Amino acid sequence: MRKEPIPEFFGRDRKEFEELLLAEFPEQARFRANQIYEWLYAKRARSFSELTNLPKSLQDALAQKFSIPSLRCSQISESADGTKKFLFQLEDDRSIETVLIPTELRGERSPRRTLCVSTQVGCPLDCQFCATATLRLKRNLTTAEILLQLFEVERMQGQPVTNLVFMGMGEPMLNYDNLVRALRIITDPETEMLGKRRVTVSTSGIPGAIRNFAREGLNVKLALSLHAPTNELRTKLMPINKKYPLEEVLDAMTDYYRITGRPVTYEYILFDGLNDSPSDAARLATIARRVPSRVNVIPFHPIDFTHPTGFAAELRPASTIAVGRFISLLRGSGVTAVIRASSGKDIEAACGQLALAGRKERPMEIAVPA
Ligand code: SAH
Repeated sequence: MRKEPIPEFFGRDRKEFEELLLAEFPEQARFRANQIYEWLYAKRARSFSELTNLPKSLQDALAQKFSIPSLRCSQISESADGTKKFLFQLEDDRSIETVLIPTELRGERSPRRTLCVSTQVGCPLDCQFCATATLRLKRNLTTAEILLQLFEVERMQGQPVTNLVFMGMGEPMLNYDNLVRALRIITDPETEMLGKRRVTVSTSGIPGAIRNFAREGLNVKLALSLHAPTNELRTKLMPINKKYPLEEVLDAMTDYYRITGRPVTYEYILFDGLNDSPSDAARLATIARRVPSRVNVIPFHPIDFTHPTGFAAELRPASTIAVGRFISLLRGSGVTAVIRASSGKDIEAACGQLALAGRKERPMEIAVPA
């Protein structure tokens, strides 16, 4: 796997800042590194002059060599259900989408604000049901670009995000170094940005990366995009399954549980007549019972705007009745199964619908705050 370079400045973790400062402050590199770390990530400084407890000479030296980047949000679309989709412009003029999903959950005191972030511009995988696939992979996002999606949305909204899911554009495990570095910063208990229980990474299933990820000590939630209980169907839906067949991926998920102690999640889009039979439910239950887990049944979000013909165009969401029946079968076999709500379908912000704006009229645009 390609090694991603250490960020020049913004996006470094504590240890990497220490390395940067070692030449200038051999005695107190760690102290200075911690200060910079706090300013950038906890206090969200946007210029070096804000780093007021650093010596002015260091502020100037840093400002001369580095800059604190930002992401330019060029469009926000708002769904009738309150979901917001942000279109961010990157420095090389590529763009990505990030989605904020507010939910009121019964039994929870305050509403959740879940942010769904992207890890790549486009995606190299060719999942048949996903609109992002049509973009192909343009490049990996940097650690800074991953972090800034969170920072910019919180700044524009004036409210903290409560949950973070890596379910936007791209395959997180194929941008491993930047994913891990961003997670280390975000879940750092000292900056209290977000607890590891409130962060989920979703993957199509790269066994080697999953095992490495388990050993990073991050212990965030891991979700596998399963979608089919047999190799035959999974390969048809997700060509990556040819390279990493089900057994290998499930073994890696078992290891994730054994190493981290965290129950895993299986995501399962229910397609009409394809993977929704009682025998599919039975096979899925066998998979789900391997280690403590839960199954998220996801309604299929049509993507005819990117796939007007072919196999993808023939995919249909299972009916509400079929979803209910499937969930009951899973629960009857002792599996924890829930339906994942679809948010933001009217603005193409739901799972698998991120394919960048501009291909057709956008419903209801709202102004971007400065
Ligand atoms: N590459 C990662 C993360 C991005 S996809 C992964 O594969 O998990 C995030 C989730 O949305 C995955 O579970 C994915 O399978 C699901 N998804 C993709 N297209 C979808 C669609 N059209 N309808 C519903 N869910 C979809």
